[in-house]
Amino acid sequence: MIRKLIGRVLKLKKHHGGGGIVIPVKRHGIRRDRLPSFALKTTDRLQEAGFKAFIVGGAVRDLLLDKDPKDFDVATDATPEEVHKVFRRSRIIGRRFRLVHVLYGDETVEVSTFRGSGEALTDESGRIIRDNTWGSQEDDAKRRDFTVNALFYDPAREEIIDYHGGVADVQKRRLAMIGAPAQRYREDPVRMLRAVRLAAKLGLEIDGATRKPIHELAPLLQNVPAARLFDEMLKMLFSGQSWACLMQLRSEGLHHGFFPLLDKMMKAPSGETFLRLALENTDRRIREDKPVSAGYVFAALLWLEVLDNWARRKDKGEKAMPALFDAIDEVEAVQEQKLAIPRRYGTAMKEIWMLQPRFEQRSGIKPFRLLEHPRFRAGYDFLCLRAAAGEVDKEIADWWTTFQDADSQKRESMLVRTQPGEGTKKRRRRGGGRRSGGNAEGGAPAEQGGEA
Ligand code: ATP
Ligand code: MG
Repeated sequence: MIRKLIGRVLKLKKHHGGGGIVIPVKRHGIRRDRLPSFALKTTDRLQEAGFKAFIVGGAVRDLLLDKDPKDFDVATDATPEEVHKVFRRSRIIGRRFRLVHVLYGDETVEVSTFRGSGEALTDESGRIIRDNTWGSQEDDAKRRDFTVNALFYDPAREEIIDYHGGVADVQKRRLAMIGAPAQRYREDPVRMLRAVRLAAKLGLEIDGATRKPIHELAPLLQNVPAARLFDEMLKMLFSGQSWACLMQLRSEGLHHGFFPLLDKMMKAPSGETFLRLALENTDRRIREDKPVSAGYVFAALLWLEVLDNWARRKDKGEKAMPALFDAIDEVEAVQEQKLAIPRRYGTAMKEIWMLQPRFEQRSGIKPFRLLEHPRFRAGYDFLCLRAAAGEVDKEIADWWTTFQDADSQKRESMLVRTQPGEGTKKRRRRGGGRRSGGNAEGGAPAEQGGEA
């Protein structure tokens, strides 16, 4: 058996640009027609112009795993200028890492020139800060992160060129770093996050040697620019396996560097339930190809921190609504340093939070105003999440479920009658006792809960 395997490998061992193994279609099974026409056009035209051109990276890996790739990257020996000349509809982007975007309607193919690993500029911790030297195909394979990410697929010949045993690793469901893991993490600490994300998303097991240094090197994430962490965070949250990713992040000790709040969130059982429900819901939507809002997901991720901060302020005697706004500002400011959440998501996140107390007001004109708020739907969904986690009365969420679809007569009859000075809600809440998560006072006194 083993001899047969070795025999096979030896038969495959044709040299290809120095050390690569050519794997024919009968071994890997990826037919050219599995790729979309825009990806094929890109490699075909580069090859017709006399260059080498391959589909690379995640797309080859995903096809081998029988998953739909989300984007198609191409690697070539043509320089960015040469690529740009081949494709009229293309543009050169990036300064530190120059590459070409080739445009086909809504689709973009990223074409990058084979990169060398030789003269990358590093900082004192070994992190690569500039890397723009071209190299051979073999160099390009070597500077990629995991063996399963370093495969080159040639659609014209339907062959895979494999320099690091990536095809075998896909078959073994093994995620292994190319080269010395600790050094590769020092060069780019984000690779630690990528290891966790790809393993969780693709159902791969992180190889022992690749996993081992992570715990110790996790603090290096602090040196990574916030914007890059944010990008990686988004990829995790929208991987369709966000809950699994987060769990694995925590077990590898990777959340401290850029998501210190995770500890606190997970300590309280209600917090863990809330977060799990939020992320599982997101995962389901991604898998069903439904849209998800980043603002909503971040609102969920940071809500427990807001609640905690809010409760502390109220204990100190601050009034409910100003205390909430201050809590939101503070949580946002702290988060800003760790994970630069772009304004467009940050605004949505804050609006969703600020709407929450308004759901408690169910008398007079206020519920009607809330219905018209542009962020009503997201705010309501968030309320349902809180109710499902037991952080707010389920009855309130149910009330809104009925109210939003009721006719005007029914709506009028649903309104909660209040006595001036003594809200019925207040009595009911006292009777109900405090909920876990310390938020029972979601319902600010009506007169303070003005328009958020
Ligand atoms: P995804 O499914 O999230 O797109 P991916 O592996 O394709 O996963 P990309 O960010 O699209 O991730 O990167 C494309 C390819 O570039 C990778 O497959 C890998 O070969 C290489 N790559 C990306 N990030 C790194 C990194 N930090 N270090 C080394 N190589 C990397
Ligand atoms: Mg990709």
